[in-house]
Amino acid sequence: MTVSDCVFCRIAAGEIPARLAHSDELCVAFHDLNPQAPVHVLVVPRRHVASLFDTGEGDRALLGELVLRASAIARSLGLAEDGFRLVVNTLAGAGQSVFHLHLHILGGRPLAWPPG
Ligand code: 5GP
Ligand code: ZN
Repeated sequence: MTVSDCVFCRIAAGEIPARLAHSDELCVAFHDLNPQAPVHVLVVPRRHVASLFDTGEGDRALLGELVLRASAIARSLGLAEDGFRLVVNTLAGAGQSVFHLHLHILGGRPLAWPPG
């Protein structure tokens, strides 16, 4: 896949519309098209990275900032009291369907453990 075929690269570039929850120089966050909870937002780095397995030592700052931003975004979405879940599905066997790294923020309802 080339980056121009990647749906999340295209959303980050503003070429495909999405309901934004956050945008900065590093990442965008937008509401999932097929939400699995009352709050379901995806945090997506602007740089194309296919999955967590495609990150390494040079990505420490990126990964740290994404998690920090996810926490701040969850707070801004009203999840500070009841909490939220942060999920990174990695490869198809774990449910990854879009091969551009993304963090799912899920909240707004009780979340069972273990997940399905
Ligand atoms: P994954 O299954 O890879 O962990 O998560 C991909 C998520 O992206 C899914 O929850 C899916 O609903 C969402 N998604 C796929 N295409 C689009 C899109 O074009 N717009 C938005 N907002 N979400 C999308
Ligand atoms: Zn991409």
